[in-house]
This record gives sequence, structure tokens and C-alpha cells, in this order.
Amino acid sequence: MAGAHDSRLLIDGKLVGPVGSGTFDNINPFTEEVIGPVPDGSAADMKAAISAARRAFDETDWSTDRALRQRCLTQLADALDSEREELRGELVEEVGCPVAVTYAAQLDTPLEEALRWPAKYIDEFPWERDLGTGTSFGAPTRRMVAQEPVGVVGAIVPWNFPLEVTLNKLGPALATGNTVVLKAAPDTPYNALRVARLAAERTDLPPGVLNVVTSSDHLVGEVLTLDPRVDLISFTGSTATGRRIMEKGAPSLKRLFLELGGKSAQILLDDADLDAVLPGTAFTCIHAGQGCAISTRLLVPRARYAEALEKIKGVFEAIPYGDPADPGNIMGPLVSARQRERVLGYIEKGRAEGATLVTGGARPAHLDTGWFVEPTVFGVPDNRMTIAQEEIFGPVLCVIAHDGDDDAVRIANESEYGLAGGVVSASFDRAMSVARRVRAGVVGVNGGLAFGAMSPFGGFKQSGIGRQGGLEGFEQYTETKAYGLPV
Ligand code: NAD
Repeated sequence: MAGAHDSRLLIDGKLVGPVGSGTFDNINPFTEEVIGPVPDGSAADMKAAISAARRAFDETDWSTDRALRQRCLTQLADALDSEREELRGELVEEVGCPVAVTYAAQLDTPLEEALRWPAKYIDEFPWERDLGTGTSFGAPTRRMVAQEPVGVVGAIVPWNFPLEVTLNKLGPALATGNTVVLKAAPDTPYNALRVARLAAERTDLPPGVLNVVTSSDHLVGEVLTLDPRVDLISFTGSTATGRRIMEKGAPSLKRLFLELGGKSAQILLDDADLDAVLPGTAFTCIHAGQGCAISTRLLVPRARYAEALEKIKGVFEAIPYGDPADPGNIMGPLVSARQRERVLGYIEKGRAEGATLVTGGARPAHLDTGWFVEPTVFGVPDNRMTIAQEEIFGPVLCVIAHDGDDDAVRIANESEYGLAGGVVSASFDRAMSVARRVRAGVVGVNGGLAFGAMSPFGGFKQSGIGRQGGLEGFEQYTETKAYGLPV
């Protein structure tokens, strides 16, 4: 289904092999077989990409020509659209993502919005605001505020929703006039190389405006953080790597946009209709739980805890999973053997610390290949346990009892993360009053979803800095300049 894969980097407008012409293997997480070779970019390739992006920003009119930017973004969106089905197959193959998920967040939604919305928003964004006449230090003046691109953006992408994250970085970064060096995740590189080819062959993007580098070595990504010619790092990935990027970027005072991990809590208040809500807990296992905003803690009224655990057990044992190409499955394998071992390690820790394993907890006996872990539910007596605090990034739900609205808010906020969450109540006003107290960047009320290119997405606390999407996401790729003008 996926067809031929692209295998060249994009540097300074040219599709090229890496310096040294090394390759690494792209592996299918369901079959555990090699899909094909990937160019193994080096620090020298990354340096060349940064030089090209710097030159394109400093020496072309990309940063000021909004019409060109709008045209190029639309060309790239059209080009990706024309290869939508090849992309679908490729994402299923290299990410191990169920094809069902590609019809929304993994592919179709970003194809529809992630480049097209920022392209359109170029016409609506307040590039300049006239503050009118007034006084500065007692002297008459007129002031104006303008937004300008930041410069060279290093965009670093994870493997779980690689194309979605890539396009949601490229859209606003390019629309605002920056140039970009994109660093793909080593586990899922082909979709990025396809973007590279389409950008080179099907758009008017000037050479150097977009550069794409793949590498097996995480430290090739770090070159972006260390190089003073890069102005902003737009990073999506783990909180540990986010911290390291902050530290390594400090000497050159990098602008940072960090989308990091989460441990989101779904709160069921005591008037919630459990029969209506609990089937939705299956969504914890969508894409094997490899989504940063997935609710992985479920807070249930204590009086209904045993009943809820029994019902969730039934839901989890009925989750269809297996071959990601089967449209009936909502869960495929984890992306790598390393991730599977990590998830199984957390399950072991949960048991050791005294959580109750309700269902799952092992590799499924009926699947010989593929890095699977069974849909798993833990009854967790204390929110401070490791499995309720750390991001597992697998199909594991922690169910925790609460003693009323205040206690539920306390438990939801008892986390170093603050990415997402939800509240369910028979009363909308009551749900809203709890939602307002949840310290997270995205909160769903009675099943509502806040995602999309026009909506800001990102985290409080250690879930990140900045927002993807919407006015906030657009503005974040700009610097603010205040002008003092003669009256
Ligand atoms: P990761 O942090 O290991 O890697 C992410 C990317 O960073 C990869 O491209 C990797 O090569 C690169 N990288 C690693 N070390 C680097 C360094 N020192 N300098 C520069 N780049 C470096 O994360 P992952 O395992 O690929 O992704 C899973 C994590 O991402 C989870 O924690 C998940 O919650 C998070 N995530 C967050 C969001 C969000 O929007 N908040 C979205 C998706 C994933």
C-alpha cells in the first residue's frame, strides 16, 4: 500500500544524500521487518542545513513576502493531498498506527488544516497595531507595534504523530516568515522525506527556506540547539529531552516552544452517567496510548469505584487490536521494542508498588510479532504511585477514587504535568466550575474536544512552554517590535 519511499535529505533546495552516504533501517513495528533504508544525516549535514536556512532568511525576501508564503504553503498542502493514500499507507507501516486513526488526527485532519489554516491566517493576523499618539517620557509620540519572524527555526519531531506534528510546526513557522530546519524522529522518517521531496519538486519555496534532515543519532538534533545561528527551537517530545534542550540552548538564549509529556486526568463527578461515559475509556488505548494528550488517569467517585473498575475491565477486554492496517482495530503495536520494554517496566512497577492489576499487563499471547502490550487497567490506591505520576506512553489506564469535587481537583492537579484532561457531570455548570480549577492547557467538558489548527494546544507546568495552533501558536513564531514614530 505504501509504495516507494523517499530517501533523500532536503538541503538548500536540493534533494541530496547525506555526507558519508550512511543509512539506517526503518522498521515496521507490526511485522518487525525492515521497511527500507533511511539517510543517516550527520552533524555536517545539519550544519549545512542551518547555513542554508540562515542564508534564506537573511538574504531572500521570504520573511517579507506574505503572498509568496501563502502560495508555497498552499502548494505544499495540495502536493501532500495528492499523495494522501500513499502517506496513509506509509504512516501505518512506519508508525504502526491503526489506519482508523489516520482518518483523523494522524493524517486527514492535519492535511486539511495544519498548512491551510496558517496560510489563510496570514490575511487575518494583526501584523501591525497602531497604538496612536501619546507621550513617551513626557514627549509627544506615535507608537506602532509590529510582529516579525523570529528567524531560523529548528523543528524537532517525535514518532507518535510525526506528520501531524511536522505540519503543525511548518504551517505557522513558514506562514510567519521564518525559515526551517526539520529534524525527523529516527523511528518514523519516511513521512518527513516525502514532505522534503514534495517541497522541492512541487512548490516555489526558495532554496533553504525548508530543510529536512533524518538521522539515527539524537545528537544530530542537538546541533540545532547548540548552533547560535538557530533562533528558535520548536520541539515536541519527552519532558526529559525538553529540559535538555532548555539547558543546551541557554548559552545562545534560544527562543523555545516545547510541547512535552502529559499525565492527563479525566474526572467523573458523582452525578455522571457511568454507563454513558465508561465505554469512552477505550480511547486510552487509541494508537496504543501513544498520544501525549490522552487521559491516562480516570478519577471516579469512591462510592462507585468497584462498579467502575468492573465496567472498565469489560471495555478494555473488548478493545479491538492487532494489525494496524485492519480498519476495525483502534490499537496497533508500540513503536519499538524499546518502548514496549519501557511500558512493561512500568506495569511491573505498578504491581510492585501495590496497585491492583484489573486486566491486561502482558504481551498478548495471540500475536507472534509486533511490539504489543495488552490493554491494561490498574486500580491505583494512591495518586502518588509511580504509574500515576510518570508518563507511560502505552495502553495503560490508572483508575483512582476521589471523595468529591475538591478532592478530584486536588488529585488531577497533583502532577508535574498539566497538558490536558476532562470533566464529566450531569450539570454543565458544575463541570465548568471544576474544569476552571484544573491546571492544564486543554480541558474537555462533558466530552467536548478543543483540538484543531485554530485552537491553542499545549501544556501548563512541565508539559511545556508555548502553544501549537491558533493566534497564540502563530504569534509564538514572531518577535515583537515597537516603533516610536514622529507625530
Ligand atoms: P524524545 O524526546 O525521545 O524525542 C523527540 C525528538 O527529539 C526526536 O526527533 C529525537 O531524535 C529528538 N531528540 C532527542 N534527544 C535530543 C536532543 N538532546 N536534542 C535535540 N533533539 C533530540 O520523544 P519521543 O520518544 O520521540 O516521543 C515521545 C514523547 O513525546 C512523549 O513523552 C510524549 O508525551 C511527547 N509528545 C508530546 C506531544 C505534545 O504535543 N505535548 C506530542 C507528541 C509527543
